Amino acid sequence: MIRREDFVPDEDWEHFREISKDFPTPNIFVNMTAVEKAYRQLIKTFPYADVYYAVKANPGIPVLKLLDKLGSNFDIASRYELDTVLSLGISPERLSYGNTIKKAVDVAYFYQKGVRMFATDSKEDLKNIAKNAPGSRVYVRVLIENSSTADWPLSRKFGCHPDMAYNLLVLAKEKGLIPYGISFHVGSQQRDIGQWNDAIAKTKYLFQSLEEEEDIKLEMINMGGGFPAHYLQPTNELSEYASEITRYLEDDFEEIPRIILEPGRSLTGDSGILTSEIVLISRKNNTSLARWVYLDCGKFNGLIETLDESIKYPVVTDKDGGKDGEVILAGPTCDSADIMYEDAKYKLPLDLKSGEKIYWLSTGAYTSSYASVGFNGFPPIKTYYYDEQNVYDDKDNKVK
Ligand SMILES: *Cc1c(COP(=O)(O)O)cnc(C)c1O
Repeated sequence: MIRREDFVPDEDWEHFREISKDFPTPNIFVNMTAVEKAYRQLIKTFPYADVYYAVKANPGIPVLKLLDKLGSNFDIASRYELDTVLSLGISPERLSYGNTIKKAVDVAYFYQKGVRMFATDSKEDLKNIAKNAPGSRVYVRVLIENSSTADWPLSRKFGCHPDMAYNLLVLAKEKGLIPYGISFHVGSQQRDIGQWNDAIAKTKYLFQSLEEEEDIKLEMINMGGGFPAHYLQPTNELSEYASEITRYLEDDFEEIPRIILEPGRSLTGDSGILTSEIVLISRKNNTSLARWVYLDCGKFNGLIETLDESIKYPVVTDKDGGKDGEVILAGPTCDSADIMYEDAKYKLPLDLKSGEKIYWLSTGAYTSSYASVGFNGFPPIKTYYYDEQNVYDDKDNKVK
């Protein structure tokens, strides 16, 4: 059985229930105090690192403002994210363009706005950067195979083989760019800390060989995200990640270079609760034991990371504790892909009724910004951000 108190302490739960009670479902409530706590914990466990928040995880203005205030930098993936962040008065010196897939005109746009740090993983992109962002710092992303231990892998699509990374950094220098460092992402919600060891070893080889053979002295390692939020699949605590990863760095480098982290999920994931209402409960035949529970949220409205049942959110109700039985959880749209969990065999109380609420915990990252614009006419799920007293919408307008 899923115990709510293992994920949200009683006091926080009561505050959430009180502050969210008058809002129509589905909605997501993000606890800003929890985001702040996660940020403070991260910089405490990695005191030597610079944090570049991966904006895509939760781009709500209240989150960006809070992280700005706390001193975070930002990893930006598109000109639209860039415009949003710059509109808050955040300096372009605190931004990196971390997407390796970009149009030449977008490179020029970032450069014109003052951004001077770019990720790359291909020759064509590197040439675009040299031409449209002359003299900038570039770091090359290396490919990390991680599909089995990361719950939301980011392999295959991004990064290049270390041999190619080597060539790209040489080419960067020839083209008048600053060959600045190496980046990698071991996969989001990475449960195997050892993945960082392999990645750091590859990085060390590149640092060493580029210095010895090309007289290129790299200065920075961008270790990406991958740090955990709390879902059903257990993970180590962040402190465990930090002490292991720090040890890998110390083993491989006499002097640790500048370290950048790009957390998304671990900063905002645990802070969110998605509230949905049960639309309908049914069975597919007279004797089937499993109930189909259809909700007013689904894959197209906040829960896309249930794709392949990858991320297993803790799901709780107001009736937990009594007798329960197996359910299939599905969304409200006319698409049979809109099923969140079937194989995972979630269990919910037997006396659950339509109109009652289901709470999805740890839904502060990769939820609302992934929602469709209006599939079947359902509007995108709304996110609210709250502190001790007030509630704000995603544009930071106070709504309560
Ligand atoms: C999405 C992304 C991140 C964030 O990863 P998490 O696992 O959510 O922390 C970091 N860096 C890059 C380049 C990304 O694309």
